[in-house]
Amino acid sequence: MYIIMLGKPGSGKGTVGKMLSEELGIIHISSGELFRSYVKKAGTIGKEIESYISKGNLVPDELAIQLVEKRLEESDCKNGVILDGFPRTVNQAKELDKFLNKHNSKIDIAVELELSDEDIINRIVKRRVCSNNECREIYNLEFKKPKQEGICDKCGSELIQREDDKIETVQQRLKTYHETSEKLVEYYKNKDLLYAVKININSGKTSEDVAKEVETYLQNK
Ligand code: ADP
Ligand code: ZN
Repeated sequence: MYIIMLGKPGSGKGTVGKMLSEELGIIHISSGELFRSYVKKAGTIGKEIESYISKGNLVPDELAIQLVEKRLEESDCKNGVILDGFPRTVNQAKELDKFLNKHNSKIDIAVELELSDEDIINRIVKRRVCSNNECREIYNLEFKKPKQEGICDKCGSELIQREDDKIETVQQRLKTYHETSEKLVEYYKNKDLLYAVKININSGKTSEDVAKEVETYLQNK
């Protein structure tokens, strides 16, 4: 099964994607995490990627597609994937369709998490992530506090703020979303693959609730 997670930066794609991955037993791949792992390695590709990420801009399509497809060809992806953060442009979506077609596969559903820009900004500046690459658990200082301040519940590593979660970069990422990635909602709607979940921060709907809603939808489909 191939599930695409759509939504603004910080909409909860990663958190919900990871929950779905555990429930459904299929691997979760975040293009952002994949790209940050290249940045950590600090080679030529990593340096190039960093120059885009740090400004809140997209990694160019050609490079993004190449790296994600390489990852999708690994053996742990053969039963399907929950793809979070990819595709982010219509061009990437078309290339992904071609890639899956070649592998006799297709997308089953595109889940869109809908939040207002205001809620997004509120959320991202309070986001903290586990610094342990193997874990990468996501926290929120308001909605999902760690039991012990600054420490990951799951693995005990230090929690950090992502470099691009600063307010200026967040605004640029939102702009990029509206200019480019928003068009994907229409793309999947036209293919009758879109499942949108509206989230209002004050409604008390948790990421668990959202993940359950998606699972129920998938079971009845
Ligand atoms: P978020 O969804 O919270 O913005 P991600 O971890 O998904 O965070 O992405 C972080 C950054 O990585 C993006 O701002 C962008 O620079 C880059 N990136 C991630 N996925 C893609 C993609 N599919 N195409 C181009 N750039 C990407
Ligand atoms: Zn951890």
